[in-house]
Amino acid sequence: MICLGIEGTAEKLGVGIVTDGGEILANAIKHMPLVTGIHPREAAQHHADNMGAVLEQALDGANLDLGAIDLIAFSQGPGLGPCLRVAAVSARTLSLVNDIPLIGVNHCIGHIEIGMLLTGARDPITLYVSGGNTQIIAFDSGRYRVFGETLDIAIGNCIDQFARSAGIGNPGGPVVEKLALDGKYIPLPYVVKGMDLSFSGIYTAAVNALAKHRVEDVCCGLQETAFAMITEVTERAIAHTEKREVMLAGGVAINKRLQEMIKTMAHEHGAEFFIPQKDVLGDNGAMIAWAGILRYKSGERQSLEDTAVRQRFRTDEVDVKWR
Ligand code: AMP
Ligand code: MG
Repeated sequence: MICLGIEGTAEKLGVGIVTDGGEILANAIKHMPLVTGIHPREAAQHHADNMGAVLEQALDGANLDLGAIDLIAFSQGPGLGPCLRVAAVSARTLSLVNDIPLIGVNHCIGHIEIGMLLTGARDPITLYVSGGNTQIIAFDSGRYRVFGETLDIAIGNCIDQFARSAGIGNPGGPVVEKLALDGKYIPLPYVVKGMDLSFSGIYTAAVNALAKHRVEDVCCGLQETAFAMITEVTERAIAHTEKREVMLAGGVAINKRLQEMIKTMAHEHGAEFFIPQKDVLGDNGAMIAWAGILRYKSGERQSLEDTAVRQRFRTDEVDVKWR
């Protein structure tokens, strides 16, 4: 079986093609150029304008035509409504016109499944840290359960907003990482509430700190504080669940300092540390295609009516019948 997956939850548009043997035949991606934050309607327009080209790029890359595709998958949520709708409408159209079955998947579960496929992790605590999501997830009793999450903005959003306010670049993650290497730690608010996290206060404090400190020092303080917060919650999740594996997912996981902190903590607990290759850490179409294959092969089917997008689609709402 060959599945074509469409990802379009935020500013990136991806089309991936994956076999049921887990081989990625293509993983085309188009990033919307950003100056400000993501404007949902403009991002949706970007996806609509580029859907044809990205689709063609994926099919050409896999050396296939649509006749070879057995299943169309798309990210049904969570995400920005207008962007989700472009991905969903494109997927429905491809499905109806070419008479190919259609299946929607949860975006966060896509990150987990492609990570497990490519790293060989079998039952990890997943730390999913991205522009729009921050969750500590593990499988238990038939679902991917959320053991901890942000109560307000995502960690990537915090870093990106800070970088825009500081005028150092967009997206902020890579710039902040680089500047932090020359920075000296400054304390910023550390907010962990039980197993949950909050990043809006640290964002404001970091912006205010720019009046008194070098930007490098604020970058260092921001990274050390925010990453220590998520490391603490991930550590507690390992202790509670007694899982023996920790896996990173999401664009923020590209950060070397975060990788180092999570890896050190995991090894202190005798847990194995896994990190997928960079091109599947961030949002991409292959992860949607692979999650679609797993879902479809477990016997799940969707009628057209079931394919409405779900902006607040939670990781722990999905019955995971393929495990
Ligand atoms: P995603 O939403 O998973 O596609 O990831 C996008 C997010 O990853 C944005 O918030 C980026 O700033 C962030 N990001 C990318 N590279 C890095 C990095 N080296 N360090 C921290 N964050 C990063
Ligand atoms: Mg994502």
